[in-house]
Amino acid sequence: MPGLGLDCEIDRRDFLNGVVVTAAAIAVPLPAEAQITPGTQDLSGYYPPLSHGLRGSHPGSFETAHGLRDGSFWRHARKPEDTHAVYDLIVVGGGISGLSAAHFFRAKKPNAKILILDNHDDFGGHAKRNEYHIGDRLELMNGGTMLIDSPHPYSAAAAGLIRHLGIDPTALAKTCDKPEIYKGLSVATFFDRQTFGEDRLVIGRERTDERGGTISWKDFLAKCPLDVATQAEILRVQEGTQDTMPTLSSDHKKERLSRISYLAYLRDDMKCGAKTLAFYQTMTHEEWGVGIDAVSALDCWGFGLPGFRGLNLARGSTERMGYTAAGYEDNPDLPTFHFPDGNATIARLLVRDLVPDAIPGHDVEDVVTARANYAALDRKNAPIAIRLSCTVVGAQNIGTPRASRGVEVAYARGGEVFRVHAANCILAGWNMMIPYICPELPELQKKSLHQLVKIPLVYASVAIRNWRAFHKLGVAGISAPGMYWSGTRLNWPVDVGTYRSVRLPDDPMLLFMARAPVSPGLPEREQHRVGRAELLQTSFAEFEIKIRDQLQRMLGPAGFSAKNDILAVTVNRWPHGYAYEFNPLFDDFSIPPERRANVIGRARFGRIAIANSDAGAAAYTDSAIDQAHRAVEELLALEPK
Ligand SMILES: Cc1cc2nc3c(=O)[nH]c(=O)nc-3n(C[C@H](O)[C@H](O)[C@H](O)COP(=O)(O)OP(=O)(O)OC[C@H]3O[C@@H](n4cnc5c(N)ncnc54)[C@H](O)[C@@H]3O)c2cc1C
Repeated sequence: MPGLGLDCEIDRRDFLNGVVVTAAAIAVPLPAEAQITPGTQDLSGYYPPLSHGLRGSHPGSFETAHGLRDGSFWRHARKPEDTHAVYDLIVVGGGISGLSAAHFFRAKKPNAKILILDNHDDFGGHAKRNEYHIGDRLELMNGGTMLIDSPHPYSAAAAGLIRHLGIDPTALAKTCDKPEIYKGLSVATFFDRQTFGEDRLVIGRERTDERGGTISWKDFLAKCPLDVATQAEILRVQEGTQDTMPTLSSDHKKERLSRISYLAYLRDDMKCGAKTLAFYQTMTHEEWGVGIDAVSALDCWGFGLPGFRGLNLARGSTERMGYTAAGYEDNPDLPTFHFPDGNATIARLLVRDLVPDAIPGHDVEDVVTARANYAALDRKNAPIAIRLSCTVVGAQNIGTPRASRGVEVAYARGGEVFRVHAANCILAGWNMMIPYICPELPELQKKSLHQLVKIPLVYASVAIRNWRAFHKLGVAGISAPGMYWSGTRLNWPVDVGTYRSVRLPDDPMLLFMARAPVSPGLPEREQHRVGRAELLQTSFAEFEIKIRDQLQRMLGPAGFSAKNDILAVTVNRWPHGYAYEFNPLFDDFSIPPERRANVIGRARFGRIAIANSDAGAAAYTDSAIDQAHRAVEELLALEPK
C-alpha cells in the first residue's frame, strides 16, 4: 500500500520474520536472537519491555505448548535432564496469579524455596509492560491487563495483597489521574465506507459517563452518514424510554433479557435495522471479547448500554446475570486505577516483593520508572527464582495423588528438557493446558478444564511523532464499529512519581488500539476458537498494515501521515486472553456456580493445586489473586499441624 509508510524505518522488530529495524529516536533494545534464546535473561541488557513488534504471545513462547497439545512434543524431545534441584513450591506461570501464589506461600513459610516458571520472555503474564524511550522521554503503556477494576469489591485476600504492595487505588486516582490534559477533547465515531457507505469521522457525541459529551445525540446523528430512519432508531435506543414488555414484572423482564442477546433485543424488541445494529455491534468487544450478538441483553443493561430506561428494571443482579454485569450494576463506585503500564505495575511490585534485587526502589511511585534487572530473577541459591522462557510440559505426583510425596515437574527451555522437584506445585498458567501437563487427572476434571476456552484479544501500542491531528479534531478516542481495530485512544493521562504523561500536542504520544477477533453468529466458545486461529495466523506485517491504513483513514484529513508520523509499533497478541466467564446465552445456568467447569477443573490433585484467573472464571486481577490464595491454602492444609 503506497503512502502508508510500510517501507519506512520504524521500530517494529518483527521476531517472526527476524527483521530488526530501529528508528534513531527510539532506544535500541537487544537483538532479536538474544531475546528468544532461552537463558539470556541473565545477560546484562536483557530487557523485554523495550521489545516492539509482535508481543503478548510472542513467537518462541507457545510452540512447545502446542506441540504438547498435538502429541508431537514428546516424540521429538530430548531425554529430560534431572537437575536434582528441590523446592518447597514450584509455581507454573509467572502472571499475577503465580506471583501472588509465591507471595502467599512465603507469607506462611518464610524460609520456603520457590521456583516460578513462565514460558514468556518476560514475567507478568497478561500484565505486560510496553516501554518506549522517545528522545529523552519515557512512554509507557499496558500490553495487556489494563487497570485495577473489578465488578465486585476485592476480597480480603486480594485487597490485603494490594495494600501490602503499597497500592491505594482511591488515593492514587485522586493524585495521579490527569483528565485535564485532554480537557476539551471528545470522543468520535469513525464510519467506514465498507459498512456505512463512506469514510467519515464524526466528533463529539453525548456520553453516559462523567466525562460528558460535546453535542447531543440528535446533533451527532445529524452529522453521521446514516439515513433518517437509522438516525431515529439510534436516538430511540439512546433515549431508551420505550417499554417493550409492558405486561411483565421487572423480574420477568430481567429473566427474559438474560435469555436474549443485546442484538436480539435491539432487533426484535426495539425494531432496529441493520445499520443501527452495525453501529452498536462492537460496543461489547473490549469488555467481553465478543460483539452484541453473544452478550445477553441483561448483561448489557448492567454494563450501562442504552435502550433499557423504559423497562424500569429494579436494581440488583439476578442468578442469570453474567459475572461482569451484575457487579457494575450493583457497585458503580468501586475504585479503579490505571498505572502507566497498567497492572504490569502490580506484577513488578510482586516481583520486587519476592526478589528485591530485581527491581530497585521502595514504593508504588518509584516502581513505575524503575528498570528491572532481569539477571537478578534467577540467582543460584536465592530463596525465590523466576525462570523465563520455560514451558512446563509435565507435573506429576510422586506416588499416588492421595499419598503424594511431592511433585516432579518437567520444563522445556531452548530445546532441552529439565526435571525439577518440589514438595508442592501450583499450576497458575492457562487452565485449558493443564490436561496436557497432567494427563493423570480424572477424566471429568480434564473435560471441565477443556471448557475454559480463553478469549482472544489484541492490544496494540503505536508511538506517533505528535498528536496534533487529535488536538486539531478535538478528539481523544475514536470508536470504529466497522473497522479492524474497534477502538483507538490517546495514552491514559496519568502522572505517577516522576513519570509524566505527555502534555503538548507537538510531543510524541502512544496510541492504544484494541481488536477482538470475533465471528458474529457463532456460539461464544466457537468464536474464541476461530479468533485464536486468526490471531496466530496473522503476521506482524498484516497487523501493521491494518494500523497504518486505519489511522490514515481516520486522521489523514486532519494532517496525520502514517508514513511520517508512526515511530514504532507493538502488537500485543493474546490468543489466550481473558478467562472464560459463563454466559447465560450459551452455558447451562441451572448448574450452580460451585459445580461449574472452573470449580471442577481446579480441584487439587495430590500435591498439585490449581490457580489462575481461569479457575475463578473471571477475567480480573482480583480473581487471579483470589485463586492463588485458595490454591496455597489447599496445599498448606496438607501440612502436618
Ligand atoms: C488484553 C487483556 C486485558 C486485560 N485487562 C484487565 C484489566 O484491565 N483489569 C483486570 O483486572 N484484568 C484484566 N485482564 C484479565 C487478566 O487476565 C487478569 O487480570 C490477570 O492479569 C490474569 O493473571 P493470571 O496470572 O491469572 O494469568 P496470566 O496473566 O495469563 O498468567 C499466566 C502465565 O502462565 C503462563 N503459562 C501458561 N502455561 C504455562 C506452562 N505450561 N509453562 C509455563 N508457563 C505457562 C502463561 O503464558 C502466562 O504467562 C486482562 C486480560 C487481557 C488478556
